[in-house]
Amino acid sequence: MDVKIVGAGVGGLATAALLALEGHNVTVLEKNQEPGGRARIWAKDGFVFDMGPSWYLMPEVFEHYFDLFGKKVSDFYELVRLDPSYRFFFPDHEVIDISADLEKNKELFDRLEDNGAEKFEDYLKQAQDKYDYLMEGLMYEDLSGLRSMLSPKLMAAGWKLSILSNMDKLIRKYFDDERVQKILQYTIVFLGGNPKNTPALYSMISHIDYNLGVWYPMGGMGKIVEGLVALTEQHGGSIKYGTEVTDLQISDGRVHRIITNNGEMEAGVVVVNADYPHVEINYIPEKYKTYDIGYWEKKTIAPSAYVMYVGLNKTIDNLTHHNVILDHDWVEHFEQIFENPQWPDKPAYYLCCTSKSDSSVAPPNHENIFVTVPLAPGIEDTPEIRESYFNKMVDHIEKVLKTNIRDSIIVQRVFTLDDFSEAYNAYRGTAVGLTHSFWQSAFFRPSHKSKKVDNLFYVGQYTHPGIGVPMALISAEIVADLIYEEMKE
Ligand SMILES: Cc1cc2nc3c(=O)[nH]c(=O)nc-3n(C[C@H](O)[C@H](O)[C@H](O)COP(=O)(O)OP(=O)(O)OC[C@H]3O[C@@H](n4cnc5c(N)ncnc54)[C@H](O)[C@@H]3O)c2cc1C
Repeated sequence: MDVKIVGAGVGGLATAALLALEGHNVTVLEKNQEPGGRARIWAKDGFVFDMGPSWYLMPEVFEHYFDLFGKKVSDFYELVRLDPSYRFFFPDHEVIDISADLEKNKELFDRLEDNGAEKFEDYLKQAQDKYDYLMEGLMYEDLSGLRSMLSPKLMAAGWKLSILSNMDKLIRKYFDDERVQKILQYTIVFLGGNPKNTPALYSMISHIDYNLGVWYPMGGMGKIVEGLVALTEQHGGSIKYGTEVTDLQISDGRVHRIITNNGEMEAGVVVVNADYPHVEINYIPEKYKTYDIGYWEKKTIAPSAYVMYVGLNKTIDNLTHHNVILDHDWVEHFEQIFENPQWPDKPAYYLCCTSKSDSSVAPPNHENIFVTVPLAPGIEDTPEIRESYFNKMVDHIEKVLKTNIRDSIIVQRVFTLDDFSEAYNAYRGTAVGLTHSFWQSAFFRPSHKSKKVDNLFYVGQYTHPGIGVPMALISAEIVADLIYEEMKE
């Protein structure tokens, strides 16, 4: 069967490789000149930057995916466990490391909070229960549709997974210390959510962090993309770069032709990995839209991001690989993302320095720094704002790290709102799609299969299970299975 995949992000490539493995004739159409989408790399003057994802979590999902091809992760890259897993910078220069050693983390929690170790163990236990429960079935299932929502299995799961509670409430039930609360919530924040609005089931992230560990593929996250490209091509799939889909010709409930900037082509099955709202709003005629513009306007779109890539001609001692800078209270920052959209005055942010673990990503005695500040989607983006924000961030980084970096910057780039829109057709410049609020999780996420066009499917971060590289791999498996089932009928 002929399959066209719109977009060479992780979700698109992972679907392409699986369908090529099944013997289909797969072509991936990608608007950019390189693969990976949000997970692309940017290389300059000896520095290599992962442009988006930098946390390698849920290693078993990657093993599982590559195993479908009879391969191991180690066939594609060397994986190392980071220790410390990450470092927090709190106000007044308080620095807290999260270790790869669980016992050390228990001691830490005991220091930060009365009975902290015991509470931490209980909290982790419920996080692990949720994770195991999800991984045993629901994570890899297509949950779209009312039928699935009303299934006895899911109704039972709702109780078990505390879907009606939120992360903020759950964490406050266990812990009083504000630092501990933040330590356990930060991943939600950086994956686009507000703890007050994120279902408590996402506390499973603590099991992922503390029990399964924080890992790093040597060479960077781009190695995952390289692996997916290799698998697609080895099984006969092809990728056409610089090919932007500009319309889908649909009649009688089927996509018949795909229109691109490089000509037109037939379509057997179409899998869309490009941003879901962009495609539904712009390429699908009114009567064939599963979700119209009103649907997207009502959704909570995940934050955009102000991303800085900075190459320094010196090393910085007090950084580790992953650093979370919580020098300011993040409540105001959340308000400036979700309630009163504007550029954050006092941002909470993430700073990554992969050169701390990997000598291949920066010249000797240099450092590659990647900074992400979550931003409200759709706010004003001008060269003046970008520049003044860059200066503001450099000032703040210098304050937190107690060292000058401005004079050591030899490579720099900013990637933010309009770049996300231009590079990926991102709806309102979002970095990661749809937040994981209650109404936008599991069966409430947009469907993997169009409800009105028979041969049209969607894969990637907008669909279940959601945001993140492992999630995009899982969604690819779900879509490949759906297509397989459909072809049998
Ligand atoms: C700054 C940042 C930090 C992140 N950090 C992490 C992290 O640490 N860990 C983690 O696991 N995840 C992280 N994520 C999330 C993760 O990167 C994404 O969830 C995942 O990569 C999304 O993959 P995808 O396949 O859904 O889509 P995308 O990566 O968006 O791929 C879609 C592709 O479609 C292409 N496209 C769009 N329109 C068209 C068109 N009309 N025609 C042809 N092609 C088109 C785009 O160019 C793109 O290549 C981060 C994301 C960002 C932005």
